[in-house]
Amino acid sequence: MSRLVVVSNRVPVPTPGTPPAGGLAVALSGAMKARGGLWFGWSGRTLPPDAGEPRAAQLTESEGVTYAVVDLSERDLDDYYAGFSNRMLWPLFHYRMDLTEFTRVNLAGYHRVNRLFSRLLAPQITPEDAIWVHDYHLIPLAAELRSAGCKNRMGFFLHIPFPPPDILTVLPNHADVVRSLAAYDVVGFQTPIDVENFETYVRREKIGRRLPDGRFVVHGRTVRVEAYPVGIETQTFADVAAASGRNALVRRTKESLGDRKLIIGVDRLDYSKGIAERIQAFETFLLLDPEWRGRCTYLQITPKSRGEVPEYAAMEREVAGLAGRINGTFSELDWTPLRYVNRTVGRNALAGLYRYARVGLVTPLRDGMNLVAKEFVAAQDPENPGVLLLSRFAGAASELDGALLTNPYDVDGTAGSIARALDMPLEERKDRWSSMFQRIREYDVAWWCRSFLDALENEEAAPPQAGRIAAVR
Ligand code: ADP
Repeated sequence: MSRLVVVSNRVPVPTPGTPPAGGLAVALSGAMKARGGLWFGWSGRTLPPDAGEPRAAQLTESEGVTYAVVDLSERDLDDYYAGFSNRMLWPLFHYRMDLTEFTRVNLAGYHRVNRLFSRLLAPQITPEDAIWVHDYHLIPLAAELRSAGCKNRMGFFLHIPFPPPDILTVLPNHADVVRSLAAYDVVGFQTPIDVENFETYVRREKIGRRLPDGRFVVHGRTVRVEAYPVGIETQTFADVAAASGRNALVRRTKESLGDRKLIIGVDRLDYSKGIAERIQAFETFLLLDPEWRGRCTYLQITPKSRGEVPEYAAMEREVAGLAGRINGTFSELDWTPLRYVNRTVGRNALAGLYRYARVGLVTPLRDGMNLVAKEFVAAQDPENPGVLLLSRFAGAASELDGALLTNPYDVDGTAGSIARALDMPLEERKDRWSSMFQRIREYDVAWWCRSFLDALENEEAAPPQAGRIAAVR
């Protein structure tokens, strides 16, 4: 087994006194502990204004893993992270052409930071290391490393959707982006639909073809491109949920609900999550099914995110306004239909709240995977499971066949599904839940990590024509 080098925008450096990292970080650091590893990325901090460029990454060792982090200048962060990554790639890859903002300054910053990462990482790499790069912030990294002479096996995993060609080609530098992907040996997407979108792009742009064994030749390089749906730590999450009755926050919430049914939504405040449409669907449901008034409560837990991007501030106002309108219209002296909470909740409490809920509303307009959907399923009581109402546009919909699938743009349809979920008989709830639970137990986050690494390690070493994939200058 070769040493594993993981590169991601943020690095979960273990710090005493902070809560343990989430499932993904646990799986990746577990793989690194087993074979030795280096995890490289941005520190989360910015450099003082006159500091110049960082010359080396700051290293921390923990349990056989080296964590190497780099501070970025304010300007690099604005252009690479807030700019090109979060105002261009994020909206576009979530099918939101209307929210994109492309500037050549941001694009230059994106390449500048990828080049900086390559320059600081290259000296730490040995020829046998397998390199696994994560997510849309770092697509050009392999091309940069190859230009610097690295011939290692390199894999890339995209955590967000890969859009169809008509959307991708809105990106002025789409050709460079796909050329950069071809510098990897393995490219992982979340679902077969993403692979299909990639295949259509390659065919339409006439830059390669799919081989009979499923791999692709793109710009003359052979790349394995496959779906590896991200999972969660299913059994651990189920165990935490089963033990959550003791959690004080869960107990207080249950007491405050009385015998009302709980409907739950848990998402970062992001326009991809469809929170406004979901709240409107709940409003329509209360209008169309008045017998449920006073008998259910919808709890939407939504920590704010990316406050530096203007679209997020506008959405925050819209969602808060909608929540106020519903509560103003439908509340009684002893009943508030919607509890809208802008805070994070610890994992134990979250698991307990999922378990207590009769309905989980997971209705993104577009999502690479959506781990909340899987957490909700994992947390259920097998004897009395809740119902997952899931957007057909979440990556998770390709796996969770027991969910009630909904189109979040169809507010009336979603409202009808809420009523159906609340009324669903126990036998149907059990049937639907057990097929989903089996699926996520088998395809958990450990499976995801193992199968991607197997593909990476079994791929032939980078062929000699690797040099044809030049970094973008
Ligand atoms: P995304 O990565 O786009 O935010 P996912 O659904 O894939 O969406 O993952 C979100 C993760 O963040 C889940 O593990 C979920 O439990 C966690 N999370 C979301 N909202 C909260 C919250 N309010 N409190 C605590 N954890 C949260």
